[in-house]
Amino acid sequence: MKLVKILEGNFEELKKLNTNFKADTQRIRVTIDTIHEKPYYINKFPDLLFKTLQMFPNIRHHHCHQGEQVYSNRDFDIRQLGAPIQIVGDVIDTVHLVEHISLEIQCQLDELDECSGLTCNYWEPENRFDVFIECRNPEIATFSCHLAVLLSTDILEGIESDWQVDDIIDIAKIITKTNEYSLHTLAKMLKWPKKKTLQNMKLLEQLYFPLPWLRSAA
Ligand SMILES: [Zn+2]
Repeated sequence: MKLVKILEGNFEELKKLNTNFKADTQRIRVTIDTIHEKPYYINKFPDLLFKTLQMFPNIRHHHCHQGEQVYSNRDFDIRQLGAPIQIVGDVIDTVHLVEHISLEIQCQLDELDECSGLTCNYWEPENRFDVFIECRNPEIATFSCHLAVLLSTDILEGIESDWQVDDIIDIAKIITKTNEYSLHTLAKMLKWPKKKTLQNMKLLEQLYFPLPWLRSAA
């Protein structure tokens, strides 16, 4: 999976597609390409879902309205599996899960009670998707999507990451809450060695987390 582009906006058309989007909220549109053939994603989806739910148990409580209109005529709707998000048995399931991971990370960081998302598949190219995320802070939403894509790609490819998702969320949370950016102070607050703190700050930077030196560079 490859994150191609992120655009901020209101995307009026979403009103018709998902009635849960609140009027006048900000949204980002994240364009994602899948880079492998269909069976790759379909075969690996159950494992991805299982691992995701271990990391983010709260995704079980997400209300999913994905594709109620879009998929109503398909005959392979396997929602009865009891998964927390709707599953259609196609590549879109993987990208749709990335949407829910992004929403979950965003809600944790920005302390949002709820926010809506939607995943759409292009007709052409068939491997391109748009994920819409409702947000209060587009920068946090952007970071959440980058983290969700990295995490899912690592799981799909079986890569042992040298970082922990809980750590990166902890440091992102503490920075969001305190506006504290000093390595020394953050290490102290998190009770981490400086090396670990620095490693996680570098990852934040790589994932477009809103750090002040990135803002001023923009
Ligand atoms: Zn959904």
